[in-house]
Amino acid sequence: MNLAGHTLDEARRAIATQLRKAKIESPELDARLLLGDVLQLDLTGLITAATRRLDTSEAQRLEDVIRRRIAGEPVARILGRREFWGLTFALSPATLVPRPDTETLIEAVLDILKREGRTAAPLRILDIGTGSGAILLALLSELPNTTGIGTDINPAAIATAADNAATLGLASRATFVACDYAGALRGPFDIVVSNPPYIPTADIDHLDLEVRAHDPRLALDGGADGLTAYRTIAPLAFALLAPSGIAAVEIGQRQAHGVATLMAEAGLAVPAPAKADLGGVPRVVTARKT
Ligand code: GLN
Repeated sequence: MNLAGHTLDEARRAIATQLRKAKIESPELDARLLLGDVLQLDLTGLITAATRRLDTSEAQRLEDVIRRRIAGEPVARILGRREFWGLTFALSPATLVPRPDTETLIEAVLDILKREGRTAAPLRILDIGTGSGAILLALLSELPNTTGIGTDINPAAIATAADNAATLGLASRATFVACDYAGALRGPFDIVVSNPPYIPTADIDHLDLEVRAHDPRLALDGGADGLTAYRTIAPLAFALLAPSGIAAVEIGQRQAHGVATLMAEAGLAVPAPAKADLGGVPRVVTARKT
């Protein structure tokens, strides 16, 4: 594909056609995002500049990102960022791409706090395995008097999360610590959240190429039954939570019962069934220290 000399509009359509042929799931959207990224234009900018022509260097950069997209690299990885909860998060190879499903976890925590009239309270949040910091920073953005700590075993993820906190203007309320689970921390916390690795090891090779080849394996691999991380997180949450503190964790397919059981065995109450994501799949288990 040689895009030099094409107008932006022609290029956008040619790219979408190419992506569709390659069986990419959302060809129109991806074409717009990639074109916008190479030209540094948002949607309005692309419309305004629709008849402007691509020069050779723009065309070359565009052809390069299209090749990467067709080879299965997710748009978020190519752009190096992803929207989550209406906020933009920079990514690095050490971080999972934040998923829309994970917004269910944010909703679950906010629902409980609203019901209890605690959204203005000076709560302390712990996010175990924070990655890009998406969960912690989304919660801090909604809860103006909260502070939080995010941990990650990978220092490179901690650096990305700290950058995101700064970009989002949340650095004064967020601290990031490189450690395994919460090894370096004492608490107490009012809220413990986590989206731990939960894919059973044997299933990883069957995930979509876009996930298994581009998300960090450490952020996916949940051990033989997928529940390894929860066996550490449940007792940790019990130990670190203040009285009436809340634990909320994302779960994978068919893990609601297993995770709720681990929480209960750790001494936490599990008052409600798992909250479903937009696809109707049970996605978040919440538990409480009584
Ligand atoms: N949500 C990711 C997936 O299913 C997995 C993330 C995780 O293991 N926490 O692709």
